Amino acid sequence: MITSNQRGALASGDLTYGLHNSRLKHVSEVPRGLACDCICPACEQRLIARKGERVGHHFAHTGEVCSYGQETVLHLATKEILSTVRHITLPAVWAENTFPSDLGFNPSKWAQGLKRLKDVAVYEIQDVRLEHKLGGMIPDVLLYIKNKPLVLEVTVTHGIDERKLAEIKRLDISAIEIDLRDAPRNMTPNELRSIVIEESPRKRWKYNAYANRFAASARKSAHTRFARAERKVVIRRFDSKGRAEFHVDGCPIDKRTYMGESYADLHWDCFSCPHLVSHKVEQRKKDRADDPTISDELRRALLNARESHGAIWCDGHVRVGA
Ligand code: SF4
Ligand SMILES: [Zn+2]
Repeated sequence: MITSNQRGALASGDLTYGLHNSRLKHVSEVPRGLACDCICPACEQRLIARKGERVGHHFAHTGEVCSYGQETVLHLATKEILSTVRHITLPAVWAENTFPSDLGFNPSKWAQGLKRLKDVAVYEIQDVRLEHKLGGMIPDVLLYIKNKPLVLEVTVTHGIDERKLAEIKRLDISAIEIDLRDAPRNMTPNELRSIVIEESPRKRWKYNAYANRFAASARKSAHTRFARAERKVVIRRFDSKGRAEFHVDGCPIDKRTYMGESYADLHWDCFSCPHLVSHKVEQRKKDRADDPTISDELRRALLNARESHGAIWCDGHVRVGA
């Protein structure tokens, strides 16, 4: 049992697990000193179990300290925990912002926010492999859940590098990270077990194949839905007070017509219409045709107006150009 006064800071290179006859042993499970009969799993040096009063119990190398001991130990411990319990709680899966940026507008009304695709859930593990080559990379731990591989990265010093993440995406395999960077170095086996198995803020998706597929299909359907959604807003006439009427041609609602063509009035119709997705309209005060300060040429242009004063994006059934 580790008590709080035995949990003083450990020096870098001090380990809390060692290998004894190829089995990972926590320092609490072995006798003190060289009698622990453990080696470092990274450099295979003999370890000394230091179990004093002032510093947290740990294993020290007998010679030069290696740099990968702690990382190797935590990968091994994670694999051992998962091989034993055979289940893991995975975080909820959220869809990314799926609105395609190449459509040229940002929907203000269309629900594009984050969508929860899967809740936090416990999954049964079929197989656990340590540092098993997969494509062009070696995941820290590879799990098989529902016959699909899941990359598990245990971050001790550096997170997943870009090359590895690119390979994960290329292979389209979900990857989860357990971030132990600022975890206490001398956490107990139970604390580590809880982080690895239970719901934990230290677990996060680095890539989720399901969310990625969802996003790709949402982007595709948004393209179909909004491909011809842009409609120009023009000023065609002015009301009795000289205020411009902003017309949107081709409104499928057929509420108003101008010169035989259906249109919508931007302010009266579109702004309260459920089909309006976004708008970007210039409201230039100087465009009043009865403004004495504007030139005759501009007044004529306004009254004949085919000039665009912006655009709306509307997902009503498209008639423009049809
Ligand atoms: S948003 Fe589209 S469908 Fe709605 S009134 Fe305007 S043009 Fe018509
Ligand atoms: Zn070592």
